[in-house]
Amino acid sequence: MSPKKKKRSIRQLADKKKKEMTKKKKSVSVREPRIIKNEKYIPHLLRGMRDILPVDRIYWDFVNNRAKAIAAVYGFERIETPTIEDYNLFERGTGMTSEVVEKQMYDFIDKGGGHICCRPEGTPSVVRAYIEHGMFNLPQPLKLYYYGSMFRHEKPQAGRLRQLHQFGVEVIGSEKPIIDAQVIMLSRAFCESLGLNPIIEVNSIGCSVCRKVYRRKLTDYFKFRRKQLCSDCQRRLEINPLRILDCKEKECQELSKKIPQIIDYLCVDCHNHFTRVLEYLDEAGASYELNYRVVRGLDYYTRTVFEVFVSRPQIESQLQPLLSVIEEKEQEKIESKTAIAAPIQDGQRLAIGGGGRYDNLVEILGGKPTPACGVAFGLDRIVEELKIQNIKLPKARGPQVFIAQLGDMARQKALKIFEVLRKDGFRIAENFSKDSLRAQLETAHRLGTKLCLIIGHQEVLNNTIIIRDMLSGSQEIVDQDKIAKELHKKIK
Ligand code: AMP
Repeated sequence: MSPKKKKRSIRQLADKKKKEMTKKKKSVSVREPRIIKNEKYIPHLLRGMRDILPVDRIYWDFVNNRAKAIAAVYGFERIETPTIEDYNLFERGTGMTSEVVEKQMYDFIDKGGGHICCRPEGTPSVVRAYIEHGMFNLPQPLKLYYYGSMFRHEKPQAGRLRQLHQFGVEVIGSEKPIIDAQVIMLSRAFCESLGLNPIIEVNSIGCSVCRKVYRRKLTDYFKFRRKQLCSDCQRRLEINPLRILDCKEKECQELSKKIPQIIDYLCVDCHNHFTRVLEYLDEAGASYELNYRVVRGLDYYTRTVFEVFVSRPQIESQLQPLLSVIEEKEQEKIESKTAIAAPIQDGQRLAIGGGGRYDNLVEILGGKPTPACGVAFGLDRIVEELKIQNIKLPKARGPQVFIAQLGDMARQKALKIFEVLRKDGFRIAENFSKDSLRAQLETAHRLGTKLCLIIGHQEVLNNTIIIRDMLSGSQEIVDQDKIAKELHKKIK
């Protein structure tokens, strides 16, 4: 197919999308808000969204803290961009032919008639901020990291949510292959710091010049096998044949196994760049696998691309209850209970992250030509993986001392002592809503505090307090103005 015709196809897609949006606009302007009258409304979580409950917080804190620590070690600074962006940012940035923009956008017309969306990924937002805030004037390359919620209107199923959380890093302003190698090494370091064993598959998809040649080869290859492709891939063949390599359909995957290898079509510059990346990785002893079918699903990638996987070889039996992909109908019934763990079979790999170089994106979004490279990790999958692999998390620092009270006067005093000790820097816990001493001591036991302060009517009158050693059960009475001093001695 001629490049002219390809361009037309993309344009046709863009026109189609615009028409759809105009229709939407019209329908939105006449749509009345849905008012629920007299019918019993039961609030429920939207499909594919999730609540992160306190019971899981320990995992999320662990992952977020490790992400922050790794980013800091490699010299990245945090950037936060809004959850909502202009739709065009992703249409231009992520690309019209990407699955994410073509099918999964959470886009809508706002009250002012603007076409906006919940961000499906972080990179275009970071690049927008880079251009908009003139960050190209800062020393380059700029190293930025982010984490937060992304939204993709996918069919919810195990491992695929509509609200997902990502941690990503971006290095903007260097074309050097050492940057690609370091982003890959950071990815490995992040996984290892979580106790996961990553497998990193690397490839190069060349630049816009050599990819054109390869696309033609790929089109020729698939053209003769067109009928064996799924209907989506038959369409992809017209628009962007590289997308076929991402297809999850078995037949398309089988066909993709015998494609011409892109490495044979790289131009000299891209070939040299990729060779240097691999040399850096080899020199640093960072293991990786070459996979010429890794192309990444987003349109902006150039040259180096990679995917990060974890495998779960021996834990299949533990997984079965989590692995069953919930039937669509079943899922509708239990909308709020979307399974998170991704279904993978014995020895198979679960994708937890992906990245690469995107040398054209800054220019596409209106900046000066600026090379860049980055990676994004799916934190929901990582958290599930930590649970499934039963990875031991570092224990959170619990409270050092518990304060128990008996009677109204004591409760009043206890509230004040709690504040004094908190300001003194003690990690102190309480259960002021309970009256019985037994119930309060049970809470102290549950929290694992070694010391408990007990105050009752008599202690209030004497201006004293009891310090109880929770292990031995021994108790001593001290003056209230000496509590901090005594606690310091005992806690040391
Ligand atoms: P991407 O931004 O598509 O390159 O995805 C990067 C990572 O985010 C993937 O490797 C997944 O771990 C994760 N991810 C992508 N889409 C989803 C989704 N719908 N639900 C949960 N995790 C996702």
